Amino acid sequence: MFEKILIANRGEIALRVLRACRELGIKTVAVHSEADTEAKYVKLADESVCIGPAPSGLSYLNVPAIISAAEVTDSEAIHPGYGFLSENADFAERVEQSGFVFIGPRPDTIRLMGDKVSAKDAMKAAGVPCVPGSDGALPEDPKEIVKIGRAVGYPVIIKAAGGGGGRGMRVVHTEAALLNAVTTTRAEAQAAFSNPVVYMEKFLENPRHVEIQIMADQHGNAVYLGERDCSMQRRHQKVIEEAPAPGIDRKLIAKIGERCAEACRKIGYRGAGTFEFLYENGEFYFIEMNTRVQVEHPVTEMITGVDIVQAQIRVAAGEKLWFRQRDIEFRGHAIECRINAEDPFKFTPSPGKITNWHTPGGPGIRVDSHVYNGYTVPPHYDSMIGKLIAYGDTREQAIRRMRIALSEMAVGGIKTNIALHQELMLDARFVEGGTSIHYLEHKLADRGEVKHN
Ligand code: ADP
Repeated sequence: MFEKILIANRGEIALRVLRACRELGIKTVAVHSEADTEAKYVKLADESVCIGPAPSGLSYLNVPAIISAAEVTDSEAIHPGYGFLSENADFAERVEQSGFVFIGPRPDTIRLMGDKVSAKDAMKAAGVPCVPGSDGALPEDPKEIVKIGRAVGYPVIIKAAGGGGGRGMRVVHTEAALLNAVTTTRAEAQAAFSNPVVYMEKFLENPRHVEIQIMADQHGNAVYLGERDCSMQRRHQKVIEEAPAPGIDRKLIAKIGERCAEACRKIGYRGAGTFEFLYENGEFYFIEMNTRVQVEHPVTEMITGVDIVQAQIRVAAGEKLWFRQRDIEFRGHAIECRINAEDPFKFTPSPGKITNWHTPGGPGIRVDSHVYNGYTVPPHYDSMIGKLIAYGDTREQAIRRMRIALSEMAVGGIKTNIALHQELMLDARFVEGGTSIHYLEHKLADRGEVKHN
């Protein structure tokens, strides 16, 4: 096992990794920007290194500074968390070339999955069902593009191969609008991702977002840890996640889960990973793979008992997976609410000093947050300040516990989206379960109208 790990991230996930390391008896190095110097989790680490000024481009994305921090502290491995450099193949390569272990997949796997066209090709070849669409990248010839559009059938969605974070996508409803949309998306993709390659998919009108968590070791073993439903989204950003996905036949989950595990064995995947699918009319359609730990990993931990972050570390150290598929039992139901420092109606960020921070507790309640009384939420980063997770024997119990937890939670000094979560936990369609990825946007649009009247 490693003696010392450098955590190349901030906020709740830095604290989550730190806790996993402490439990495993591993020393930790927190790297931080000038804006995070006073954060308590930085003080909890055995060592800390300031890697630059507040803007993430100068600190959390500063590869040379992170590598030197690992060198001066004699760290053996680097955990990238999520976001920032976690899916940057060049970073993973630099880490390994500098003699450290990257806690994640091999750089070439990250590269393969980071390009959505090559990822889809690889998954198709491995027998994972994909959204119907163009066979790889769209050609230059307009006539060919029109032909492909007809074959796929409208509406279609044009997506950038290098896209991410919900950017670089455009829905097209008619053939008349197609070529313009392709040209615009290409130009945007070039500007945003330095990669003009785009592809076409059938636009699914009312799907759910259901993803499969997998864990693989370096010895050819891969296990799926069930699914998560992350359909409650605003601007392609997840707001609530839960496991299991309500109302989906367990046999269907087992089938798609096994396909994903098999795909991992085929491509020699190592570490934690998530296969994201759109789910519509009983069918799964692969859209992309995330080659890192996800924000929403706790709901899977709650229903499987597997500590995903510890598993990442143990697998990176060369250990064999200590559980097989048949050892994984899914028990109960877990729901996660992302707590953001933002206005619950207008969604404008609300950084600043937290003057009161009271977190809930009781059976089945878990709070993953780096925040405390007197903490100042810096304006430079993501607005998520924590995650509230409720577990119950049934979905109904998890919802009831979440309602109580939300009512107990008190945050003063800044605005949060707790009021939105309270509303959603009482929403008849959410309580029923199985809403589509468009549900929240539609609900918010309706709510806006009511407010203005
Ligand atoms: P990103 O990497 O930017 O998150 P994804 O490919 O994961 O991009 O897609 C993000 C979101 O866009 C999905 O969760 C879904 O809401 C929507 N989306 C993507 N592809 C399709 C599609 N073929 N049909 C309908 N919605 C889609």
